Amino acid sequence: MSLGSLLLKLQDIDLALTRNRAALNAMPEIAELAKKRRAHQKLKADATKLYAQRKDIETYLKELEGKEMDANDDVRIAQQNTDSSDYRAVQQLEIELSNLAKQLDKIAFDRRDYEAKLADIKAKEEYLAEYTAKFEAAVIADTKAAREKAAGLMAEVEKAQRQREHILEQLPEDMRVRYEKAAETHNGLAVERLEGNVPSVCRMALQASSMSDLARTSSEVVECPYCHRMLVMGEDGEES
Ligand SMILES: [Zn+2]
Repeated sequence: MSLGSLLLKLQDIDLALTRNRAALNAMPEIAELAKKRRAHQKLKADATKLYAQRKDIETYLKELEGKEMDANDDVRIAQQNTDSSDYRAVQQLEIELSNLAKQLDKIAFDRRDYEAKLADIKAKEEYLAEYTAKFEAAVIADTKAAREKAAGLMAEVEKAQRQREHILEQLPEDMRVRYEKAAETHNGLAVERLEGNVPSVCRMALQASSMSDLARTSSEVVECPYCHRMLVMGEDGEES
């Protein structure tokens, strides 16, 4: 491959390298995944909150159960300890039983209330668990896809680096130095080729005097009089 072709190829590789490195560093999938991880933490926090609410209600229901047993015990004890021949004692028992019945009503009412709340929380927990499972599956799939994409870009970068090394080995030291310097100055676009009398990057048509100056030099790679990029005079096609 001619010197000019090598330089142009090196430039193509370097431009692709820069593109792929930038794409790798700025993968939108990574930002998206970070956002999803934050959303996942929120789902977990919601689940913890619901769990705490359910535990509280289960505790209240247990307490109600204890109160109900106590009240029923009280009913039994009051009935057993009452002398049914004693009018005042029977009257007293009626009052006591009426109070206990009210307590039991209140307990039953509270229990219905808490049980409804418990059912509501359980439904919410179930929905959240289902949603979280789907969300996690999606995050796993997204992570896999992002890893594959990153691996693909990384493979491209490594391949380009090997190609780059191979071309650098074929370039004389002074050309390497000129290329690196021009690439830095011109943001990667170090080399242009002459198409007719027009350089391919700066597109400033060379005047006849410049053309004849350039024609006199025997070197294949000169410097563009306008933009000072490396200017490839003739190219030997794309074969390597
Ligand atoms: Zn130029």
